[in-house]
Amino acid sequence: MDFSIPAQSEARLRAIEEFVRERLLPRETALLAAGFGASEPELEDLRRQVRARGWWAPAVPAELGGLGLSLLEYALVGEVLGRSIFGHYVFGAQAPDAGNVELLHRLGTEEQRAHFLLPLVRGEVRSCFAMTEPETPGSNPTELRCRARRDGADYVLDGHKWFATGADGARFAIVMAVTDPDAPPRQRATMFLVPTDTPGFRRVRNVPVMGRAGDGWLSHGEIVLTECRVPGSRRLGEEGGGFAAAQERLGPGRVHHCMRWVGICERAFELMCERGASRTIEGQSRLADQPLFQATLAECRARIDAARLLVLKAAWTIDEAGFAAAAEEISLAKFFVAEVMSDVVDAALQAHGALGMSDDTPLAFYYAHERAARIYDGPDEVHKLSAGRRILKRHGR
Ligand SMILES: Cc1cc2nc3c(=O)[nH]c(=O)nc-3n(C[C@H](O)[C@H](O)[C@H](O)COP(=O)(O)OP(=O)(O)OC[C@H]3O[C@@H](n4cnc5c(N)ncnc54)[C@H](O)[C@@H]3O)c2cc1C
Repeated sequence: MDFSIPAQSEARLRAIEEFVRERLLPRETALLAAGFGASEPELEDLRRQVRARGWWAPAVPAELGGLGLSLLEYALVGEVLGRSIFGHYVFGAQAPDAGNVELLHRLGTEEQRAHFLLPLVRGEVRSCFAMTEPETPGSNPTELRCRARRDGADYVLDGHKWFATGADGARFAIVMAVTDPDAPPRQRATMFLVPTDTPGFRRVRNVPVMGRAGDGWLSHGEIVLTECRVPGSRRLGEEGGGFAAAQERLGPGRVHHCMRWVGICERAFELMCERGASRTIEGQSRLADQPLFQATLAECRARIDAARLLVLKAAWTIDEAGFAAAAEEISLAKFFVAEVMSDVVDAALQAHGALGMSDDTPLAFYYAHERAARIYDGPDEVHKLSAGRRILKRHGR
């Protein structure tokens, strides 16, 4: 394995790091308190600065207007962006749009690329991905109920979705719906491009998450589709190809999330160190002088470094041998990094005492919102089972 990157990439990485540290981190608490909608003008201005520096959409292929980084190079950039809650958004690399760009790039027709993909890559619009349903297990999407019936040249969609991140304010949704309930389980569903102003598409609410419903990109929408009619030209990919496409979408998405989580770990770790060094506990003694604090710090450090190496290994394997060859590495990284992040954020919050529970640091936001890392894009258990089975296969079981 070779995790080295070219010298010019290294210089760019340092410049991006400085931009995040100097322009994003100091504004984070105020932007979060104001909410996404109220912060959009400032975020838009930051996006202009990123575009002017040639850093826009780092993971998107150059022919579409992105930076076209390899996954390994993007792993390092993704970690730096992950240090700020707004890093990925300001650089045009945020979920779920980044995954939707990949889907449209791979499966979109000429018309779909012009109408949906290009404005999305340019950051002129946002999108959402609506697969999960309250009534069926998201961890097993072969159970989906949302239906898409053919009616002449159109499809008519009926269903109930939730946790569609960023649905509030999105121009369109990519909706997973069952086109043939009698087909083999993995060939039942199809993806559709549904503009959010289509009659019959209704965002019911932003689902409150640990006390906050959020808004705009910082929210998760519940959606009801009632007799929602879209022309056949809005089908994304082949009929019955939804699961295969979703799996391919989730592959890079999981690695992107892992990189971001390592960035969150580093930010939380840094805050924890600063707090330990500055907080007086008794007389001249600081929190950092306590052996228990030192031991916790060492455990966090070791686990963050291990997490980063797992992510880099997965990214390197994908770059060298493709996604199918990296399935085990992706699963191992997905559950391990999510667990490490949860524990590091928890330790950092604990070290801050009451301050950690307040919104004066990003730790409480991480604690509430990044806990979901162990659930979305495949819960821990599903990835452990999948990796376990692959390992045992090599041992004849
Ligand atoms: C913050 C957040 C953002 C999200 N964004 C999106 C989005 O943009 N679009 C979208 O479509 N969905 C999104 N989701 C939904 C997410 O993909 C689902 O929550 C996830 O797939 C799990 O599905 P579920 O919630 O229905 O849980 P279930 O499938 O009901 O699973 C519940 C629990 O059961 C356990 N479990 C499941 N399977 C197994 C197994 N085989 N063995 C042992 N235990 C198991 C796990 O502990 C799991 O957490 C988001 C969720 C969250 C929390």
